[in-house]
Amino acid sequence: MKILIDMDGVIANFEKSVLDTYQSLHPTKPFIPLDERTTFYVKEQYPSELQSLVESIYLTPGFYQSLPIINGAVEALSEMTQRGHNLFICTAPLPQYEHCVLEKYQWVDQYLGAEWVKKIIVTNDKTLVRGDILIDDKPNITGLETPTWEHILFNQPYNKHITSKKRLNWDNWKSILDI
Ligand SMILES: [Mg+2]
Repeated sequence: MKILIDMDGVIANFEKSVLDTYQSLHPTKPFIPLDERTTFYVKEQYPSELQSLVESIYLTPGFYQSLPIINGAVEALSEMTQRGHNLFICTAPLPQYEHCVLEKYQWVDQYLGAEWVKKIIVTNDKTLVRGDILIDDKPNITGLETPTWEHILFNQPYNKHITSKKRLNWDNWKSILDI
């Protein structure tokens, strides 16, 4: 099978890094705990006067490259590959691409290795990419085409209201994916 794997919120821990950085830079300001996150875009859950502080965190050089890996991701990706599946990393960049795009490549090289750099697909419309499965934390993924892939949600607090799709995490993926 061709399996497309999203990066942020699936293999790279974007949310933890935003919150940790926010709390260290602004220790007295209110914050949203990770398990209370309800919007897909973190900035949108903060009051308007704090949104630029949140955004500046992920626009800072080095942010994307230093994201921690989500536990179990490396092992899951290697095992799927060993089982003969074709995996690709399918990620949508920020419109402010300056650091984000380069650092996503650096991140993959650093955590997954050079072979995986060749498997990166950067796109803002994942429906244009063919595949059997897309593992992604975004609640709804739309675009120009009818997807060939089944969207399987990667569990995150901000997508738990979606009940119409299969969902998984790196602890239970083997029992959810019939591969
Ligand atoms: Mg994501």
